[in-house]
Parts: sequence; C-alpha cells; structure tokens
Amino acid sequence: MTKALVIIDMVNDFVTGKLKCDRAQKIVPNIRKLVEAARAKKVPVIYVSDAHLHTDSELRVWGEHAMKGTPEAEVISELKPAKGDFVLEKRTYSAFFETGLDSILRHHKVDTVIVTGLHTHICDRHTTADAFFRGYHVIVPSDCVDSFTEEDHLKGLEYLKMAYKVEVLPVDELVKKI
Ligand code: ZN
Repeated sequence: MTKALVIIDMVNDFVTGKLKCDRAQKIVPNIRKLVEAARAKKVPVIYVSDAHLHTDSELRVWGEHAMKGTPEAEVISELKPAKGDFVLEKRTYSAFFETGLDSILRHHKVDTVIVTGLHTHICDRHTTADAFFRGYHVIVPSDCVDSFTEEDHLKGLEYLKMAYKVEVLPVDELVKKI
C-alpha cells in the first residue's frame, strides 16, 4: 500500500468562523497526530481547502465562506502546512475536482488515500466518490472526520462503507500502520 494523507477544509471559516461547530474542533488533535506520523514516514500530506470565487455554484447553498485570498480560507494554525506538504485550493465539494490532486497522487504511485477533515457527509463523501471512481482504496479515520451533527457524521460514515467499501478505523490504530 502506498498512502497519501488528504486533509479537507480544515480552514478558519470551518473551524472557528462562519461555518464553525464544536465538533470540527475536536478532530483537530487527531488530525495533527496523523499529520505528524505521515510526515515522519514520508507519506505525502496534501491539504485541499475551499478558496471560493463569487461565481462558485456552492455559494448558492452555503452563502459566502472561505473566500479565496482571505484569512478565513487559510488552514487553521494548529494544522499549519509544513515545507514539503502540498497545499491545493478547491472550489466545490470534491478535493479532486479541478485541483490537480490526481496527478500528485499518480506521481507518488499512491494506491490508498486517507481522507480526513470536514464534513463526513459532504466534502469527505464527494472526495471519496472521486477517489473510488479513479480506482483508489480509501481509508477514513473515524475520529479525524466530522459533520455538524452526530447523525450526519454517522450516516456519512455508513454511506462511505456501503458505497465505496472504505476502511474505517480510529486514528490511534491507523497511526501504527501508516
Ligand atoms: Zn465551500
């Protein structure tokens, strides 16, 4: 297995800003643990975050958030990207849609994508779908993803298992075998 760690939308607007929720904050230390383990093992760490333009269709659903070039669209300081990490911008739910993520994964001969970040039932789900369509195996650490509600989170995880056969496990288990 050649893995890559993808971190979705852990930006200020999603954690402490306009779309904040306490549930987003509780996954921060878990993702950090995983990021450190990945860097130590030379597993590519790839941040893919919203950087919206006014013309983006998603703003019709959520209103303005994480607008390109603003502090609200920056990765939270607790998870600040390090030298050697990849930092990509996205303009809708999937981390694969017009971001260049796939070519980075192929360059590293990745076959397994670890999906973390927000939200389990929206961007994590669409990213997992796109990974599945491209033939990647997907691992989702259950305590490194979350949603606005427990129900959305749990239903989101169930859907990922049912539709894409993702491997779901706690971060402490994944860190041991990354
Ligand atoms: Zn968005």
